[in-house]
Amino acid sequence: MSDHRLRQYLLTAPLAELTRQSRALRDSHGAPRLTYSRKVFIPLTQLCRDVCHYCTFAKAPRRLDSAYLPPDEVMEIARRGAEAGCKEALFTLGDKPELRYAAARKALAELGFETTVDYLEHIAGRVLNETGLIPHINAGVLTSQDYARLRRVSGSMGLMLESSSQRLCQRGGPHFGSPDKEPATRLASIAAAGEAAIPFTTGILIGIGETREERLDDLFALRDLHQRHGHLHEVIVQNFRAKPDTVMADAPEPSEEELFWTIAAARLILGTDIGIQSPPISTRGGRVR
Ligand code: SF4
Repeated sequence: MSDHRLRQYLLTAPLAELTRQSRALRDSHGAPRLTYSRKVFIPLTQLCRDVCHYCTFAKAPRRLDSAYLPPDEVMEIARRGAEAGCKEALFTLGDKPELRYAAARKALAELGFETTVDYLEHIAGRVLNETGLIPHINAGVLTSQDYARLRRVSGSMGLMLESSSQRLCQRGGPHFGSPDKEPATRLASIAAAGEAAIPFTTGILIGIGETREERLDDLFALRDLHQRHGHLHEVIVQNFRAKPDTVMADAPEPSEEELFWTIAAARLILGTDIGIQSPPISTRGGRVR
């Protein structure tokens, strides 16, 4: 089926038919499997230069004890994770905080580094060599040079596409004021990861003001990148949750139907080569393959 016809079908077919088709496609790939990876989270820095309106991860410097987790603390978290049976160290970070905060630049200088990526490369290398945990790195938008450096100290990396809707970057949109949420920038970074042959996780965030058509644009764009580079292991379909103390605290959340429709569309567009992960709407942490 051509992309145009598939798009029309996804936009008009009943949900029950789409979920049946996507289930059949999934099951054609073999018996359904539940997989998981034991990992320990290492939030290396919660500073971020972006201001996404739904975010609960990023904090201002005054709300943090330190701008970056110091090396001793990182290694302690990693060692305790390894002792508990973890196999991976999941590094989570805000995006390039040194470009926004003097506190980040000062903390990096005190640690002996110029950029967040410099420190990340160093500390991920220590975790890999000293604990045996395999780093998975979520460090925001990265360049080809960044990927070349970080691939030496990690097993995989990730960057959510979130949404390729330019509208959401305009004033009033959830990505206004967040330069790293420019769709072209994120797609270029995911492509650069592909050129560097990085095993990669990405995904979309649904219910932040995008349309179904725009979600399909995202999924087709990710499929095209995977066809070119073969690097996408997993695409997350994440549903927006309204969290207290965020700009979008009172925004409506997407319905279960929207989530199911998007998961089905993702499977029918992406095929069976890529795992699809989605948190159940009322709980957290499930996976649909
Ligand atoms: S880029 Fe990520 S960490 Fe930074 S504000 Fe946006 S969602 Fe939060």
